[in-house]
Amino acid sequence: MSSEHPQSTAPILQAWSAFLEQTSDAVVLLDAQGVIIGASTPARLMLNRGAEVRGVPFHAFVKCARDHPLADSYCLPNGRSARVRRTMLSDADQRPLGQLLLFTPVTPETPPAEERLDPRELQLREVTLTISSALDIDTILDRVVQLSVDLIGADAGALSLYDPERDCMWIEHEIGISGLVGSGPLLRDTGAVWEFLDGDKSVLLNDYINHPRAIPLLVERNVHAVAAVPIRTPHKLLGALGIYHLQPGRRFTRRDQHLLETVAHQTAVALENARLYQTALKEAERRALLYRASLEFGQALELDALYRAIHRAAARLMPCDTCVIGLFDAERQEVEYVYQVDAVGVWPPGRLPLQRGLLGFIIRTGVSLRITGCDPEIEQWFGAEPFGEGEQPTGSLLAVALCAGGQPIGALSVQAEASNAYTSADLDALEMLAATAVIAIQNARLFGRVQQLATLDPLTGVANRRHFLELAHCEMERAKRYHHPLSLLMIDVDHFKQFNDTYGHLVGDQALRAIAARLRDNLRENDVIGRFGGEEFLVLLPETGLEQALHVAERLRAAIGAQPVPTDEGEVSVSVSIGVASCECAGQPLLVEQLLKRADDALYVAKRRGRNQIQVAPLH
Ligand code: GH3
Ligand code: MG
Ligand code: MG
Repeated sequence: MSSEHPQSTAPILQAWSAFLEQTSDAVVLLDAQGVIIGASTPARLMLNRGAEVRGVPFHAFVKCARDHPLADSYCLPNGRSARVRRTMLSDADQRPLGQLLLFTPVTPETPPAEERLDPRELQLREVTLTISSALDIDTILDRVVQLSVDLIGADAGALSLYDPERDCMWIEHEIGISGLVGSGPLLRDTGAVWEFLDGDKSVLLNDYINHPRAIPLLVERNVHAVAAVPIRTPHKLLGALGIYHLQPGRRFTRRDQHLLETVAHQTAVALENARLYQTALKEAERRALLYRASLEFGQALELDALYRAIHRAAARLMPCDTCVIGLFDAERQEVEYVYQVDAVGVWPPGRLPLQRGLLGFIIRTGVSLRITGCDPEIEQWFGAEPFGEGEQPTGSLLAVALCAGGQPIGALSVQAEASNAYTSADLDALEMLAATAVIAIQNARLFGRVQQLATLDPLTGVANRRHFLELAHCEMERAKRYHHPLSLLMIDVDHFKQFNDTYGHLVGDQALRAIAARLRDNLRENDVIGRFGGEEFLVLLPETGLEQALHVAERLRAAIGAQPVPTDEGEVSVSVSIGVASCECAGQPLLVEQLLKRADDALYVAKRRGRNQIQVAPLH
């Protein structure tokens, strides 16, 4: 026997442990293999006289059910039987995680004892069994009213629930009478109900019509007699159950009142269990979603894809009309709003000083915020402008810090148009999501940096030789497939050895950086610049034929040679020679290496003819 659980069962157990600890029902939690991973105290008593049951296959305790593994009635170790309500648990992708079994003991058939019982007692026993075997609040309440009316032999009944926030009752269920549900709140001081609710006792009003505080709606519907009882746990009021006679002269008895009190007590226990169950169910679902999010984050290596995955995960967990992610730029003491999406669309990235804006506030203070009724100009509280014209109004928001090693590196906010859209459980979930997201953001940043190191030339910031050749091969394939022209410039700095000898290597490096900058400034976004080695640069011009390539080459030569470059030794003049090679013949098979060779040959001619000039390789 072992109480160790495989890693995969730990989240289910965590999610349900509060429920298992608190429930007064016999509940057992099984993993997908049918091994017990948790059990409430009544369940442990039932299965193993209170001793540990975790780690043991469930069927070891209920041997007689082995032939019928899916039977919903089991024979227990003590020889008694129990009915089982089974809830299958699965993760967000519908993979089975395990099951939750709720036991209702079946009292053995003992005819002599039953004969001694009042038929109403028997009925009451049936009622309590029925109520406590449901875990869905609506089902419980519906059953309670119907069963109470039947049990007492009354004409009608209604059940109201207490709303602690507004200190009022709402009638939620009715049987044998109409128009009570939806008739609005029963405020304190309305009706006779409050007298007994506050006093925590049941009440019989057999002359209801003449009661000074009779509710007109009930009087209109010929409610002549009322038996009512509060539904409450020792600590809080949950609601009230009322049973009605609609014919004059019919009366409720003390015995009716007693039965009703028993039903109400049982209902309170069932309701509490159902609420615990719902909370545990939600919690389990939340954990499954968070787990799925962490897997998705792990796969998103690029930051933009990661931001979208964070947004998707938040939207699965809670209302999310708007999602905003900001990262802290410590050097500039600014927040870079890297992701801002609402129902209107994607807002462009922006920056705000750390002292301004909601996310700046979160990063500065490290606190988590839940605001349930937002001022429409919430961002302005924090000294920020709205995203732009047509931005969605915010009714409620959550905002949490993205912390790495205890330091906020950014913040995440989700917002909803409706007010009161978020519970404190939502804030907890967003904090958990942020904790996972921040690791993924750090990883993606690291990946980006490694990627940069692997592809860029550290001195000039243009593509290194290997990366340039990779890009050139792709462009060549594209040019061939679509019969588009493609040109290559090979650029070499003139007399650079002499330049180094005169000014030193460091100044030479500065000149190379300045040349790369001038190349960048004079080319299109789609052109690719690479450092071929030493003082040689390559420029690939997609969709560009020879004539145009010559213009570009001339523009670059002039841009580099026309103005001296600033260095530590003052302004120094440099010039370049350029060899140009193009391929623009449809269907002509050509390799990058061949294009390079032709550009190199042309460059050699340019050097030989005096430098600071352009030469073209003859078209093949
Ligand atoms: P030409 O006009 O014929 O190209 O003459 P050149 O002097 O530029 O040609 P050569 O190939 O003889 O010399 C290239 C020089 O470029 C030699 C080397 O010192 C310099 N060089 C190569 N890489 C770097 C670099 O990273 N930094 C600096 N400062 N100089 C470099
Ligand atoms: Mg050279
Ligand atoms: Mg040179």
